[in-house]
Amino acid sequence: MLPVVALVGRPNVGKSTLFNRLTNTRDALVADFPGLTRDRKYGQATFDRKQFIVVDTGGITGDEEGIDAHMAQQSLLAIDEADVVLFLVDARAGLMPADQGIAEHLRKVNKKVYVVANKVDGIDGDSESADFYAMGLGTVYQIAAAHGRGISRLLDTGLNPLAEEFPAMLVEPKPEHEELSAEEQLARLQSLPIKLAIVGKPNVGKSTLTNRILGEERVVVYDLPGTTRDSVYIPLERDDREYILIDTAGVRKRRRVTEAVEKFSIVKTLQAIEESNVVLLVVDAREGISDQDLSLLGFVLNSGRSLVLAVNKWDGLNTEIKDEIKRELDRRLGFIDFARLHFISALHGSGVGNLFDSVVEAYDSATRRVNTSMLTQIMEMAQEEHQPPLVQGRRVKMKYAHAGGYNPPVIIIHGNQVDKLSGAYKRFLMNYFRRSLNVMGTPIKIEFREGA
Ligand code: GDP
Ligand code: GDP
Repeated sequence: MLPVVALVGRPNVGKSTLFNRLTNTRDALVADFPGLTRDRKYGQATFDRKQFIVVDTGGITGDEEGIDAHMAQQSLLAIDEADVVLFLVDARAGLMPADQGIAEHLRKVNKKVYVVANKVDGIDGDSESADFYAMGLGTVYQIAAAHGRGISRLLDTGLNPLAEEFPAMLVEPKPEHEELSAEEQLARLQSLPIKLAIVGKPNVGKSTLTNRILGEERVVVYDLPGTTRDSVYIPLERDDREYILIDTAGVRKRRRVTEAVEKFSIVKTLQAIEESNVVLLVVDAREGISDQDLSLLGFVLNSGRSLVLAVNKWDGLNTEIKDEIKRELDRRLGFIDFARLHFISALHGSGVGNLFDSVVEAYDSATRRVNTSMLTQIMEMAQEEHQPPLVQGRRVKMKYAHAGGYNPPVIIIHGNQVDKLSGAYKRFLMNYFRRSLNVMGTPIKIEFREGA
């Protein structure tokens, strides 16, 4: 699991700027689910060898009516899901009544809160930040989000204490003996059940599918303590393979009226993807592929997990509509060439059994042992079929390849000037390895190293 960091504060204090800097992206994966996460943006952040999930919120104005009330509500939900709250204030504007209002709320919630005075570039940060101590939330950290200043120190203070609880947060430096460590990875993977996460936006049929997989007999009364961000873990045996189903739909009874809203959470979904070996992404045939589906897909692709796609609610549709949906899928999802696509009806059970064939295929592809001589041989055949291009009159020379990791498979290629290979050649190599290794359901990562 990765820790969750929420950015809160008035509008215009620099939350988006900080968000973009942490996620290294201009367009965040905006999870704009109707009536649910509007105004909350989620991103995978990597900064200074630390990984975490960052949530940006619309802002709290202190004048909470109409649209503002809605934004404030989003911020409260984000705070609720967070491990750490970064409370941004504007060092140039000074302490505002709305800041006081937010501070009052933050003093009441049982969360680790850090006051962050932004925009200290070109001003006397110490004196301009002094006012913020009056909020009674402790140390005021000075940053300039737009210039990347002060962020490392802030994250060291805010996140290092969480390293024990969230070991996955720390990005390991590259090990020296990669081959050995790939072997170790493989041994560990193969000694554990396949962790299968069922994800998708609300109402695509995740609960129905989970129940179908588990059999109708399942009594759906789990009232586990926990928050909205906990998934339910269900051990399962099928055709002599062991699985842990990571159920993000939260097939559990909730007494609150807001059940439909509450059972879905982006943080939960991201955590589940992170923890899984294989992701089963469910989309709704009747709704087409939405930006939200693509946003979730983006997270899965980023994570490098194996992927199986299920188009659900494939019952009761006529041929014409089915063809139309298939064309649309091809148009919007055609770029993912490695994942199997299944048309299913979770409600009636059709196609559900076959899903597991693809899950096993994807997992086995992601964890199949490959050795140096085999990879080098494939690399040489590829090189023979298609000479790498000349760079400044010299030919790029790939020398040998070895395994750097599994789930996803990482292939490391050593050689001369290999960092100069074009995107087109890298894609050619990727496809060559995919075909030669007969890999399906998992992305492959190829890394290049200069020299022998
Ligand atoms: P949000 O509404 O809290 O998300 O705020 P934005 O990130 O949209 O920033 C509001 C304004 O403050 C924009 O014009 C930013 O360019 C500016 N801003 C953000 N960070 C800094 C900073 O570190 N220094 C300065 N001088 N301006 C900043
Ligand atoms: P979740 O929010 O993704 O867990 O979705 P649910 O499993 O709660 O399903 C949402 C709605 O879609 C419910 O009314 C289900 O009965 C319906 N549904 C789920 N699967 C199917 C299916 O295969 N076909 C049809 N026609 N309806 C389905």
